[in-house]
Amino acid sequence: MIAEQVRDFIVKHRPKAVCDDCIADGIPLKRRQQAHRCTMPFGLTSEFDRRRDRCSICGDDKLVIKKL
Ligand SMILES: [Zn+2]
Repeated sequence: MIAEQVRDFIVKHRPKAVCDDCIADGIPLKRRQQAHRCTMPFGLTSEFDRRRDRCSICGDDKLVIKKL
């Protein structure tokens, strides 16, 4: 299941923050949108922190998520 793969990827990179693109590349997923669809609801939980910050993989300043 994609949501679990995305979750595992984020947990694996804890405590570093990663962006949707790097999640999609790293799993890998066919489309970035698939990662986005998972990180959006994850970001609403207290388990994850989703914000605009520097991605630990690509170094870009964009929406990233990390496991708290
Ligand atoms: Zn990235």
